[in-house]
Amino acid sequence: MPFHTIIGHQRPIKWLQTAVTTNHLGHAYLFHGEPAIGKRQIAIALMQLLHCERPQLNSTPDACGLCRACHQIEQGIHPDCVTIQPEDGQKQNPKIKIDQIRGIEHLVIYRPLIGSHKVCLIDDADAMTTEAANALLKTLEDPPDHCLFLLISSRPEQLLPTIRSRCIALRFAPLPVSDIEEFLRQHSSIESSNAKLIATFSEGRLGEALHLDPEELKVKLRQYWALLFGEHLTSATQVFDMSESLVKSAQVAEAIHWFQQGLRDLLWISVDETNAPLLYRDQEPALRQLAQQMPPSAIVELSQELHQLERGQQRNLNMQIGLEQFFFHLHDHLEDAQARKEVRRGK
Ligand SMILES: [Zn+2]
Repeated sequence: MPFHTIIGHQRPIKWLQTAVTTNHLGHAYLFHGEPAIGKRQIAIALMQLLHCERPQLNSTPDACGLCRACHQIEQGIHPDCVTIQPEDGQKQNPKIKIDQIRGIEHLVIYRPLIGSHKVCLIDDADAMTTEAANALLKTLEDPPDHCLFLLISSRPEQLLPTIRSRCIALRFAPLPVSDIEEFLRQHSSIESSNAKLIATFSEGRLGEALHLDPEELKVKLRQYWALLFGEHLTSATQVFDMSESLVKSAQVAEAIHWFQQGLRDLLWISVDETNAPLLYRDQEPALRQLAQQMPPSAIVELSQELHQLERGQQRNLNMQIGLEQFFFHLHDHLEDAQARKEVRRGK
């Protein structure tokens, strides 16, 4: 996947292309940013540019994407390029182990067979064990000229500071939703209306967008809309039951995420009626009605409460009580909204 086939990320791409053409490529880079936004594709495109048999060498240098070297890199079998990632078979918290890092010693010792660089791509580099990270650090401290390390991470804060400081960091931002929508329309069989939904839900992560099932999303949207603004809010018993059921079915994290999206839509529509990128688009009339009734300050307050709840989950707080409180506060705000509406009608 050469640079010209990648959507977005123009700044880091230009940066790397310039480094290659001016012969200023560093020995180690850290590509960081949210998961599934295209960091690995860009690392592969850079490897292709360095090894391509028919590269385009103008102001925007790029690989051809078609020659043997480009294909080998795409398939992960090029003799001068090695990819390391957390080992399979460890479903929970997979790690990159010291043996994997030791396995790249030949990269350092021998010069490349054909191209200018031996490249080692370390995906999910933050998953290195401490021993593996220390072994890599030794290499990064004194890398031979022909070595290039490309570390990829969506949690760079979990890397050893000594490793971070030896890498040139390039940050990758999520893509605009409109770019993802356009890409899906042009490069997939997804229907036009579904492309918008998927692009909105993916929040700028193309890798995520390509794996989403629109029909599954629609089911979730209906389910969580009903949980967020359904009739049950008027009954304390039903609020207790629903909160308990979400906890017992281990759906709390998912529910919080979808509720946050619902409140985000509500806030969008409160401040920007025409161009809001709504996830709950099917509920637009209801959202508009709610937005007219509920002040933005109340929506922000509820959203913050969900954020606290999300953080509380990591600290093992009692989620059932947290969810119950959230639903009661939501109900209070909706009642306030209803009261305001009635006052306006002169009741
Ligand atoms: Zn090529």
